[in-house]
Amino acid sequence: MEDTVTRCDMDKAETDAKHILNQLGSLSSYLTGMGASAEKDSCFNLPLEIMRKAMAFDVSVLYEVSNVVDNWLILEITRVFDPIGYRSDLKEGEKLILDMDNPEGIYINEVKAYQSRKISHINVPNQGCDMMGFVYLPESLGGGYLFGGDYCGQESGVRDYEASVCEIMCNFLSTILIKTQLEQLAIFDSLTGLNNSRSIKEEVSRICNRFDRKTGAVATIALCDIDHFKAVNDTYGHIQGDLILKEVGEILSSSMRKDFDVAGRYGGEEFLLVLDGTQDSDTLDIIERIRRKIEGHAFGKADKAGNPIPGESLRITMSFGIAENRSEPEPCDALEWISRADRALYRSKRDGRNRTTLWGEALDNEDCQDCQETA
Ligand code: GH3
Ligand code: MG
Ligand code: MG
Repeated sequence: MEDTVTRCDMDKAETDAKHILNQLGSLSSYLTGMGASAEKDSCFNLPLEIMRKAMAFDVSVLYEVSNVVDNWLILEITRVFDPIGYRSDLKEGEKLILDMDNPEGIYINEVKAYQSRKISHINVPNQGCDMMGFVYLPESLGGGYLFGGDYCGQESGVRDYEASVCEIMCNFLSTILIKTQLEQLAIFDSLTGLNNSRSIKEEVSRICNRFDRKTGAVATIALCDIDHFKAVNDTYGHIQGDLILKEVGEILSSSMRKDFDVAGRYGGEEFLLVLDGTQDSDTLDIIERIRRKIEGHAFGKADKAGNPIPGESLRITMSFGIAENRSEPEPCDALEWISRADRALYRSKRDGRNRTTLWGEALDNEDCQDCQETA
């Protein structure tokens, strides 16, 4: 504690309640301005800064509640603010397992804050005090956060209004984290992490709108569908099916160019890939590479409860349909574009599956899998 006293010579005028209330005003606009793309723990930047500056509260750690199993609280150390190595026990990325029935001395505040779902503070006479805040986030959205550290300076105890400010921070943060996580769910598919059906269709429409404004523009989409997927579910169960969907999602997104291409889950076992600035012949090479990668991939096998079975794997194949769109001579609209890719996909299925077809006018009389859906 000695060293923290000397390194924190904060301006005590800043600690008055009025100043803190002003800070909370700016915190409110900062948090409401955070969008779905924000990293979860970046919400903490300004709040922790305010606590450090305005309240002379030396925040030293941010934990994510990683899991709670029986009486064990498992925390992941997300960030450590400890420039002089005062807390060598805290290392970013590591996990702490705390016994909630019998918390160890230096982690007692963590356990108390988690159990009470409120801030917890301990005052140590002549040594300052320690405070831990709990930020609520439902388990379905990734679990909560704890943050805290020590008061420096001469305080012998946490003052009431300081505890209230910390509590308000926690409430603000809980609200904003829930908001950003819900926004994430509105854009991304929860199983695969890819764009969901709505947002991938929006991406296609966005590119179409650009064709109307920009000459010389080209883009290609590929609609892909897992072959005989119903049989996978029927034979191995839906948990296994879900694991395959997840792995397919990972292969697709890792095979595409970052910042140019977008992959989305179009429907159950169908995916839509959008390759902006790419013509169909180049897309064909990319898609054929992906098709072969999937054909050769050993998909993890799991028992009916979803536990991995070591050494066992499954094979699947996928069929693809590709359609290009250009600003000249005349672009087609988003529905027609997707429908062309669907006709090409349907041809791949009819021709025996595990293959790729490029759309051409000859396919215009072809049936399509999802004519109802895309028409
Ligand atoms: P085809 O080669 O003609 O595409 O045959 P298929 O069996 O893949 O096609 P079909 O349309 O008959 O069946 C698709 C199956 O995909 C049926 C459905 O149970 C499964 N499915 C859709 N969404 C999910 C999901 O989220 N999880 C799992 N496990 N299965 C899903
Ligand atoms: Mg299908
Ligand atoms: Mg299928």
